[in-house]
Parts: sequence; C-alpha cells; structure tokens
Amino acid sequence: MVNRDYVIDEMISAKSIAARIEALAHEIKREFRGTEQLVVVGLLRGSFVFIADLVRELDLPVEVDFLEASSYGDSMESSREVRILKDLRGEIGGRDVLVVEDIVDTGHTLSKVTQYLATRTPARLRTIALLDKPARREVDFKADWTGFEIPDEFVVGYGIDYAQRNRNLPFIGKVRFPDAE
Ligand code: 5GP
Ligand code: MG
Ligand code: MG
Repeated sequence: MVNRDYVIDEMISAKSIAARIEALAHEIKREFRGTEQLVVVGLLRGSFVFIADLVRELDLPVEVDFLEASSYGDSMESSREVRILKDLRGEIGGRDVLVVEDIVDTGHTLSKVTQYLATRTPARLRTIALLDKPARREVDFKADWTGFEIPDEFVVGYGIDYAQRNRNLPFIGKVRFPDAE
C-alpha cells in the first residue's frame, strides 16, 4: 500500500467523551453495586485510554487486567477468526467481569472474546464499547453499554490508531484522504 497524506477531522470532542464516560460509569456502578471485586478487562491496545478514564469514574473495588485478541480474515468475509495473543493474568471464575473495547465493528472480536471468557464461568460478564458501527455488523452482537454510535468511517484517537499512530489524540477523529476526493 502506498503512503498517502491524510487529515483528521474531529468527530467526537474530548469534552463529549468525558461527559459520556461519566454517564456510563453511573450505569455500571448501578449494575455492579455491592460487587466483591470487578475485574475490568481492557482489550489491547485500542481500549487503553478508555479503560484508564472509565476506571477512575468507578468507585467500586476494581481490578484491571488486559487481553489481546487479533482478528484476521482470509478471502472469505464470513470466516473471520479471532486469536488470543495475550491472555488474562488473573482468574475470573466466579467473579464479576467487564470487558472494555474501543470499537464494535463487524462484531467478531467481542462476540468471540466473550464466548471464550464465558467458558471460565465468571459470575457476571458484561461488555462496554466506546464506539459502535452498527452498519458494519456481520454477527449479531451488542455490547451491554455503548458510548457512541458512529457511521461507517475509519476513526482514530483516544487510544485508537491508524498504522500505530494517532493513539494519543485526546478526541475521536475521522481519517480523510484529500487526494482521493
Ligand atoms: P470487529 O468488531 O470487526 O471484530 O473488530 C473491531 C476492531 O476493529 C476494533 O477493536 C478495532 O481494533 C478495529 N476497528 C474497527 N473500526 C475501526 C476504525 O474505524 N479505526 C481503527 N483504527 N480500528 C478499527
Ligand atoms: Mg480493538
Ligand atoms: Mg488497530
């Protein structure tokens, strides 16, 4: 692929993200009130900023763990596979678990990851995604909480990369290629 110049147009401001996370944290606290320990599982790497902001809004006994999954497809769109590249460090059997994802796109990643984690019989297994692109869905999956529904655009920032860059942008932006317009 050739390297093309691109620009990033702001789609969701840092302020809107912060306000939405505060509201989501209220709902999560209501769901998990009285929990002995909530294991918050971030999916690497795109969720690292989101999980950092989210856990600081949760005054619950929280443990943070990470899992890295990689999805790859062969030429058949429908035979997507998800590999676990890095598994959890801690045990989740009998415990409350919240899986934190950056974007639900086709839905393969979160649906496979939750099936995988469910085999360890956590007490409660819930999911939250900052962004959701419902137009792109290939498998029937809906996160328990969603930050923002967005159109089918390639986005970066707030932990999300384009070729490993732009994760440090404080907002969510849409990537645009002026040469292609
Ligand atoms: P899916 O739901 O298709 O299995 O995969 C979701 C993953 O695809 C996300 O966690 C993210 O890594 C990647 N992804 C989906 N949409 C975008 C996007 O707009 N920008 C970036 N950088 N990654 C995306
Ligand atoms: Mg991801
Ligand atoms: Mg990526």
